Amino acid sequence: MKLYLASGNAHKVAELQALADAARLPVAIVSARAVGGMPGVEEDTGTFVGNARKKALALRAKLPAGAWTLADDSGVCVDALDGGPGVESAYFAGPQGDFAANLQKLTRVMRDVPAGRRGAHFYCVLVLCGPAGEEHVFEGRCDGTLLVEPRGGSGFGYDPLFQPQGYERSYAEMSEAEKNALSHRARAWAKLAEFVAARKP
Ligand code: IMP
Repeated sequence: MKLYLASGNAHKVAELQALADAARLPVAIVSARAVGGMPGVEEDTGTFVGNARKKALALRAKLPAGAWTLADDSGVCVDALDGGPGVESAYFAGPQGDFAANLQKLTRVMRDVPAGRRGAHFYCVLVLCGPAGEEHVFEGRCDGTLLVEPRGGSGFGYDPLFQPQGYERSYAEMSEAEKNALSHRARAWAKLAEFVAARKP
């Protein structure tokens, strides 16, 4: 089964493919890049699910009928910022969606926030559109805290600043397999995997 992913982010494609492989699902994640690129979508609905739905439908519109389309929307929600940057995570430091600038800004904004108030969670919603346009929504979240200084070199985005609850390392200090055992995206994916596995061919 091919799942066309409404994203050109190579990290996301790799993470989702690794999750599918780990669950032994006969699924190939196909990047929007392989079908001419992801159409421009303004992520302006104000909700994770609304944005994911918009991306899934935009990609679906350019695929042959009957394709399965998958979109995700995700972000980091910081308690001390009233849940921000949240749905705006990709554009926290400006419209160019620059990972390094976003990380730098979150580090700076949180610098003087005391240890007891550094709670945050990553959140992910997956919207799967079936061949007849039917929609299935799966959510996942991972609670943790924000470090004072970024640590680690793997992953992407805010990974170096986020330490999942019960761990002494940031997402960026974990191997891909470790992150995939506990991440927000992995938890949403586990629900999607259950759905795909139970589906009658
Ligand atoms: P999206 O592509 O609209 O879902 O953007 C989500 C943004 O949230 C990304 O640009 C990252 O900044 C951040 N983000 C989402 N998931 C992760 C993750 O697993 N690690 C680090 N940052 C993430």
